[in-house]
Amino acid sequence: LSNEKILLIEDELKIARFIELELKYEGYIVTKEHDGRAGLEKALNENYDLIILDVMLPSLNGMEVLRRLRQTKDTAVIMLTAKDEIMDKVQGLDLGADDYMTKPFAIEELLARIRVALKRNKSTITEVYTTIKLNNLTINLDKYSVSYLDQNIDLTKKEYDLLLFLAQNKNIVLSREKILEVVWGYDYLGDTNVVDVYIRYLRSKIDDNFNIKLIYTIRGVGYVLKHE
Ligand code: CA
Repeated sequence: LSNEKILLIEDELKIARFIELELKYEGYIVTKEHDGRAGLEKALNENYDLIILDVMLPSLNGMEVLRRLRQTKDTAVIMLTAKDEIMDKVQGLDLGADDYMTKPFAIEELLARIRVALKRNKSTITEVYTTIKLNNLTINLDKYSVSYLDQNIDLTKKEYDLLLFLAQNKNIVLSREKILEVVWGYDYLGDTNVVDVYIRYLRSKIDDNFNIKLIYTIRGVGYVLKHE
């Protein structure tokens, strides 16, 4: 049995009960909350290995719960969205969700994604104390921060991971699949569009914002960060 602690925030009682039973059967320790505010409070005051977070919730929606959680905590989060809430998915990932599931889903798929998210959260952090400099752009691996000259650039964790991977492989063309594998993890079950979405975020925050050209698209292949 895994003994990992999962917080489930879902207001649809039947779905919540069903997921809870499946998770318990897998050996997880499950806490359930049915509204956003109570869920956030639990998430902030207790330490969970993972949070399953529905988007449409009473009192405080899932996006807001995630946004507030991320101000202080890095707990792995899988969002549950209703069909066609595409904007929510993108927004959720941008706010720092690890993954999302669209309802209705097969429970086996949720369980698979939980395993991936738990594994990834254990293996991502390596202690390095250094900086990478790309002209005026500095990536501080110690502080997980990025700045241009003296100006701090506010990146989500995924944006940071993506930029770091591109920077560590500067002048090497990286395929979408390779990026997905390294930044999102081997077992990531989503599609490669997420890479394009995050490249757009980085470009708007860095290239466009500071009027520099750092990230190049290699049509039909992927991306490269160019730096002499
Ligand atoms: Ca709901």
